[in-house]
Amino acid sequence: MNNPILCVKDLEKTFQVRTGMFGKQGIIHAVNHVSLELARGETLGLVGESGCGKSSLGRTILKVYEPDSGTILFDGNDITTLSREQMRPYRKRMQMIFQDPYASLNPRFTIGEMIAEPMKIYNIGSADERAERVKALLKTVGLRPDHSTRYPHEFSGGQRQRIGIARALSLDPDFMVCDEPISALDVSIQAQIVNLLEEIQAKRNISYLFIAHDITMVQHISHRIGVMYMGSLVEVGNADEICNDPLHPYTKALISAVPRPDPRKERERTVLKLPGETPSPLNLPAGCPFSLRCRYASKRCREEMPQLRQVSGRTVACHLVS
Ligand code: SF4
Repeated sequence: MNNPILCVKDLEKTFQVRTGMFGKQGIIHAVNHVSLELARGETLGLVGESGCGKSSLGRTILKVYEPDSGTILFDGNDITTLSREQMRPYRKRMQMIFQDPYASLNPRFTIGEMIAEPMKIYNIGSADERAERVKALLKTVGLRPDHSTRYPHEFSGGQRQRIGIARALSLDPDFMVCDEPISALDVSIQAQIVNLLEEIQAKRNISYLFIAHDITMVQHISHRIGVMYMGSLVEVGNADEICNDPLHPYTKALISAVPRPDPRKERERTVLKLPGETPSPLNLPAGCPFSLRCRYASKRCREEMPQLRQVSGRTVACHLVS
């Protein structure tokens, strides 16, 4: 990829936790040697079950969590070990929107104050200029300029997500982590927010890492999709190819669970049930992390971790796929 806005190599993030009655220490491998690239103006959808490390990956890329190892290049600059202060110019260009925008909106502030706050922190413009920009941002996200004097509780879930997007846009970012931004919304509102994010991307050439637990939520908006399982990326490729011709056994199972709009295809659909339980992130199996639930698992799978490699125009981590 030429001149990507984001290039992540071999990124690792672990968390130490205390477990059991005796508070024994354990280590959760939330992000397990993940590598990915994101082009300017591109959306990479990131899917996988709850707890597979998607949000941890997004937060580690933004350096909300400090990575244990690996590198993060943002616009060609290595930001991996930068301090809070050194991150300041980059943080402005890297924003995040959340699943529950209400939790990130201070109920005592007006919408206008909240959208203007990041600009205030970065000393951008006078108070009047910021107020004008707030009004323009409200229009961009499909709200009215006079909404700036209202409070968060006066808005619906979809409107609050629009406010969260306006706030994230206030510093004119190049990259946004969208962490399950539509999961909590009604289906009809989900499409509106996805369309809004697409319009914004077309106008501003922003790159999105779009996180969702359901592949149908990312299919429409994503140029490429990455599938995560237990902290590892197991398959990355063009969104249509991933959805129509998945290669990794875990991706196949995810796709098989998605109902088809075409009645004939829906009749032919067979849901691939995964045996067993998701392993504890505290106790991952040796070898392939999916080996405990994979019907094709062999001795090699249980001993040797498959690495991501190029197969038929996409990258996949499975010993079986060739
Ligand atoms: Fe299944 Fe083996 Fe492939 Fe892992 S490496 S997904 S266990 S076939």
